[in-house]
Amino acid sequence: METPAIRVVSLHKTYQNDIHAVKGLSFTVAAGSCFALLGPNGAGKTTTMKILYGKARPDPQGETVIEVLGFDPRRDELDIKVQTGVVPQDNALDEELDVMRNLLVYARLNGIRGRRAVERIDELLAFMELIDKRNASVRELSGGMKRRLAIARALLNNPRLLILDEPTTGLDPQVRHVIWDKLRSLMRSGVTVLVSTHYMDEAYQLANRILIMDHGEAVLEGHPASLMETHMERHVLEVTNAARASRVDAALGDGNGDDIRVERSAERALYYGNALAPLEDAARRLDFGEYVLRPANLEDLFLKTTGRQLNELQ
Ligand code: ADP
Repeated sequence: METPAIRVVSLHKTYQNDIHAVKGLSFTVAAGSCFALLGPNGAGKTTTMKILYGKARPDPQGETVIEVLGFDPRRDELDIKVQTGVVPQDNALDEELDVMRNLLVYARLNGIRGRRAVERIDELLAFMELIDKRNASVRELSGGMKRRLAIARALLNNPRLLILDEPTTGLDPQVRHVIWDKLRSLMRSGVTVLVSTHYMDEAYQLANRILIMDHGEAVLEGHPASLMETHMERHVLEVTNAARASRVDAALGDGNGDDIRVERSAERALYYGNALAPLEDAARRLDFGEYVLRPANLEDLFLKTTGRQLNELQ
């Protein structure tokens, strides 16, 4: 088997304030694949990524293994850096400089100078659809443009591995699709992508494999579609007005014999089942706008396995 791009065994991180942010995490990222860490805010995704590229130190535990492109970030941070592109959550762009200069600084850090640097930068700006912003000040760029610029910067050294921390958080749907397309194109060219996200659709769209995390621990891991197949019912009737749920309860209690699983909160009730017909029948007892009947998704899977919602505020 080909050497994995990333191998992590029993990773722990405790911050000085005694927060145990990562608790015994283990995972492997195959070379050339896209791997997503999916979890709500505070799950430990950023911490895990920072450890991989040498920005944070794991707890010193004997059994911990960390290999990134064959190197240990605790020792060989620079070896990892030359072959890896990192897009941190806050972009870390220089707002005082224009787009070209932001990239020239990085090109120089990567030993690319003069004409070659300008050519490479123009190529990347064209790839990220930013060429007309070449001389614009970073301050004038929209959130989506800044994100694309940060990705262009991460690609300057032709990385084998691209690490992106929440690449599309806060961006509008159109920009998100552009970024996903670019990432897919990079994957086709053989780049390994590690992405963190709290958007289930992002994980579903991009990743060959996802690791669902909560409170620093792995909850479930696998191919998004097979995780759904294995762990989730196919359909869900979402009653958006919990006060009306008794009508559905009555309908589903009519002795149709189908297995229905219910999740309730103060605002809504969710009825999960593999058969569509009983859910459709129950929905007929409600008025338009009181329910949504839809396929189950990773968000539902997260709720099922953790009892919490992916995007709930902590
Ligand atoms: P995520 O990226 O999934 O939102 P983080 O890795 O940022 O999660 O955070 C995991 C936990 O560690 C959170 O409880 C967060 O408050 C805490 N944490 C993150 N960074 C620091 C830090 N530099 N110092 C102290 N606590 C931190």
